[in-house]
Amino acid sequence: MRERNPKAKLLLGPGPSNSDPRVLRALSEPTLGHLDPDFVAIMDETTELLRYVFNTKNRLTIPISGTGSAGMETALVNSVEPGDKAIICVAGVFGERMVDVAERAGATVVRVDAPWGEPVDPAQVEKAVKANSDAKIIGIVHAETSTGVLQPLEEIARIAHEHGMRIVVDAVTSLGGVEVPVDRLNLDFVYSGTQKCLSCPPGLAPVTVNDSMAEFIKNRKTRCRSWYLDLSMIERYWGSERFYHHTAPVNMIYALNEALRIVKEEGNEARWARHRKNQKALIAGLEAMGLKLVVKPEYRLPSLTTVFIPEGVEDLKVRRRLLDEFNIEIGAGLGVFKGKIWRIGLMGTNSTKANVLWFLAALEDILAGEGAKFQKGAGLEAASRVYREE
Ligand SMILES: *Cc1c(COP(=O)(O)O)cnc(C)c1O
Repeated sequence: MRERNPKAKLLLGPGPSNSDPRVLRALSEPTLGHLDPDFVAIMDETTELLRYVFNTKNRLTIPISGTGSAGMETALVNSVEPGDKAIICVAGVFGERMVDVAERAGATVVRVDAPWGEPVDPAQVEKAVKANSDAKIIGIVHAETSTGVLQPLEEIARIAHEHGMRIVVDAVTSLGGVEVPVDRLNLDFVYSGTQKCLSCPPGLAPVTVNDSMAEFIKNRKTRCRSWYLDLSMIERYWGSERFYHHTAPVNMIYALNEALRIVKEEGNEARWARHRKNQKALIAGLEAMGLKLVVKPEYRLPSLTTVFIPEGVEDLKVRRRLLDEFNIEIGAGLGVFKGKIWRIGLMGTNSTKANVLWFLAALEDILAGEGAKFQKGAGLEAASRVYREE
């Protein structure tokens, strides 16, 4: 058979990001039975660590088997019953996906749209809420990975709760890189993924559910439409009953456990500050090279920066050269941004000074060869200055 042996690359796209080497070692620890007492102890510790990273006391805080999208599906199939109305905020690909998933879960969806590259306007949400006071949930993406916007949640969470609605939040690209204010805003259902700012391979979707949502799920009039993602059943395995539902992806839970330990060792606040600082340096470098940012400063997502592709530069050629000559992957634009922007992720372990400077040097080398006009050396100097000054 042909050798596999994939070469390691620096994953500075929208995800997956590189796994921490400690996480990869944890993945290769001996597989145990999913009810083995030693494994059960690891499960309990993992939920405890998840509560730390989610900033929550929510009892129902567990990893779902599957990638971030399984988290989204779990949130929607459990939080709506067929025929329920759901207000979904859409400002990019993942908001669109939430609409699709909510409809498949049987919801009647009311959309609140915002232009790509901008956050959803709370006033628009309030209008939709007043016109649809029978809606059960508001769904919203906290970190829209297709545009690089960090959506403020304060106002929208308040509006939801004032009108007796629950709020479902996609925190796939924020958890572990940016504060996800689960308890502070009493967010009802929050889901994430392992492969973005947690620096763990794709494969699990951490979720956290507050008491109000847990109560709703317990008292549903109809059974959850998904057998596999039915939280009322999965909860019985993760809780004291240890009732078999499906075999836990045992080794992935070791990996997540190690990834969460790494977050806890660093500390949530220090980790968020690191993501902010490295993005600040990256932006200083990109702007000094004449590149224009997609998102206004106050809404920029620290873990993912979006930038317009300079005039006359070929999108695919630059990304290909970054990969071939420097082993660096960055993300292409999606949807309305296809061919117009690049998406540069600095997630988890990848958010470092070394990566920022290495990436800027590589980009400068390639852009100079593609005939872009800018002052050579200015990008690196601007980024370097950010580190010197702090
Ligand atoms: C990546 C991502 C997802 C989907 O996660 P997968 O791991 O690809 O299934 C969902 N929402 C957002 C905001 C994402 O960035």
